[in-house]
Amino acid sequence: MTDAPIGKGAVELAGVVKSYDGGDTLAVDGINLKIPDGAYCCLLGPSGCGKSTILRMIAGHEDPTKGEILIGGENVVGLPPVKRRTAMMFQSYALFPHLSVRDNIAYSLRVRGMAKAARNERAEAMMAKVHLTEFADRLPAQLSGGQQQRVALARAAITEPRVLLLDEPLSALDEHLRIQMRTELASMQKDLGITFVHVTHTQMEAIALADLVVVMEKGKIKQAGSARDVYVTPRDRYVAEFMGGQNVLRGRVETVNGVRATMIKEGQRPIEVSLGGAKLVDRGADIDIAIRRDDIELLRPERAERLDGRASVTTRITGIEYQGNFVKVMLDATDDVAFIAFVPERRFYEDPLQIGDVVYAAWDVSHAHLMAK
Ligand code: ADP
Repeated sequence: MTDAPIGKGAVELAGVVKSYDGGDTLAVDGINLKIPDGAYCCLLGPSGCGKSTILRMIAGHEDPTKGEILIGGENVVGLPPVKRRTAMMFQSYALFPHLSVRDNIAYSLRVRGMAKAARNERAEAMMAKVHLTEFADRLPAQLSGGQQQRVALARAAITEPRVLLLDEPLSALDEHLRIQMRTELASMQKDLGITFVHVTHTQMEAIALADLVVVMEKGKIKQAGSARDVYVTPRDRYVAEFMGGQNVLRGRVETVNGVRATMIKEGQRPIEVSLGGAKLVDRGADIDIAIRRDDIELLRPERAERLDGRASVTTRITGIEYQGNFVKVMLDATDDVAFIAFVPERRFYEDPLQIGDVVYAAWDVSHAHLMAK
């Protein structure tokens, strides 16, 4: 063990750049990020956006081309992983097949020269913490996928890292187990009190787990915030489309009147837009607004009186998919990508719509959200 103070698991990346191939590949392009001590942070983005590179640089398997990485306030660039007090858990778990659960968990203490009695005592305490005691003498092959994951996590956590780094830890599991282990990961993180940095390309995984969701694109951070922030108020079209659950409409500002504007879309009546806080828009500017799919109400033309005070577009239904507790209705409203309404299941069947029906898709003006370009 090193003498770095325990619990100092705050991570800060300041101006971090990583290039490969003599500068031809820019894997990480100027990242500034603060992860509080004890937080569960998910780095989320499509394949190739630089997530794993960031993880490896925090771990100490690679160093940035430029910038600083601080753990517990100390610049760790150039330090090996053991000195940083970071630990990594891989997708494949990499358990030793010939060692029992207890010996797998105690392994890194053995490597560090801890006496057998002492390391077994630590392993017992860790197994109790992660509910593995009853499996102590089993081999990895005698465990379920979820139990193997717990062993891998316990093995990483026993070194008392300040930061635990997880690279797509759930992607080897089937969907049912993935959701179960997601809950378990969250509760283990709270029990252990260690900062977790978890890389995933699965939106639902990130928003279910993280205190801090970091959405990335091409080596840059597009948005960092709580799960709800990122999902409900995406900064721009990229984040909205990547996170899902939103419709994005683009139009041109026609009038601005204090905190409201009207937006013009071809073939539609003017759409009222709330400008929110300090946002300023100019007449003639192109803007994007996001409307949650579950905030859309579909109205038959004869019920147009219910549009009063709300914003709407005229649409034609192109598809209907039953989803259990809601019905997904695909709409041909605009030139924009998929315009979709999630209609609560009961409400949909009170007056079922059909493919081909022309309806208003309406929403409360205050529920739409103006995005950055
Ligand atoms: P992600 O984890 O988001 O899928 P990575 O961090 O693995 O993305 O990769 C980001 C970019 O950097 C990709 O274009 C990838 O090809 C490139 N890259 C990653 N590691 C190396 C390497 N060792 N040498 C050259 N290019 C690399």
